[in-house]
Amino acid sequence: MRQVTERPLSQRYRDDWPQTGESPIIMLQGVSKSYRDCVAVDHLDLDVREGEILGIIGHNGAGKTTILKMITGLISPTEGSIEIMGMDITREGTRIKSFIGYLPEESPFYENMTVTEYLMFFSELYRIPRSVARDRIHRLLGVLNLAEENKLTGELSKGMKRKAAIARTLLHDPGLLILDEPNSGLDPLTSFFIIDYLRALRDEGKTILLSAHNLFHIEYICDRVAILKNGRLVIVDSMESLRQRLGEREYEITFKTADDLPYEKKGDNYIFKSADVGQMASLLRQVSDKGWALVDLAIRQSALEDIYVKLMNGTELAAPASV
Ligand code: ATP
Repeated sequence: MRQVTERPLSQRYRDDWPQTGESPIIMLQGVSKSYRDCVAVDHLDLDVREGEILGIIGHNGAGKTTILKMITGLISPTEGSIEIMGMDITREGTRIKSFIGYLPEESPFYENMTVTEYLMFFSELYRIPRSVARDRIHRLLGVLNLAEENKLTGELSKGMKRKAAIARTLLHDPGLLILDEPNSGLDPLTSFFIIDYLRALRDEGKTILLSAHNLFHIEYICDRVAILKNGRLVIVDSMESLRQRLGEREYEITFKTADDLPYEKKGDNYIFKSADVGQMASLLRQVSDKGWALVDLAIRQSALEDIYVKLMNGTELAAPASV
């Protein structure tokens, strides 16, 4: 059970928003974005619920960045509507932007500013009082494990820059985070550190929409996953439901006996694999009845990567579905 420590986004910014938790915080209806020579996003219906992490995945050029930019109001859709807590992004962009933290794919830096100067500069843009800003910057740099507060941003490594950009995104304590590949350029340990930090932010009560290419990370932190192909939504669902609908499960029993059996053998061990739980149960009974030595019992299930590959290859392309 999650311990939400922050007031929910909707209560912080819209007193009149229904408190049932059923109304989506972000709602895209029939959203398309066309450029002169391509349709980047094609009639997209998608919602993001309060307090969840929704991950968008898809091949290069699938339309992920375009969607995130439209939601933050940086570019306008050619067709369709985008509402954030019932407010239209094209009409009420200024109000909406005050509670969004947007991390673009690449963040611009003023290379002659130190990390602290850079973050203080953005705090002033957000009109955060200086003493509050100083405390917040100190806390964020601590949490993000970025000790280079006095280094020029131009001298930071790629990963340090990403951390400074994440700190900038969180400066005004936004309730809604829109993150475009937050892990790009980070080493594996730092990546995991950031992913865990995002989970903690979600647990505090923030709503997070992110894009990423690392499917393992997506599987690890996302409550729901949206898969895009050529600007179209292929599916959006929870990991658990994706596994049930499209994944495979295989059971594996490893045991030892002197008897001669018609199963695969590795060293002294017999290994039996099957997707049929009934078959496994009857072999387990046999192992127990005959007094054979059970060495290992494993259940393997499809990872998001398997499901993604299936969907991208089109073999399992069901009608677009949303749960
Ligand atoms: P990646 O994983 O490589 O970052 P993506 O899924 O974020 O890709 P987008 O950047 O949204 O993809 O691009 C979607 C499509 O829109 C691509 O075909 C891209 O070339 C096109 N596109 C994006 N921005 C523009 C632009 N300003 N002008 C013309 N075409 C654009």
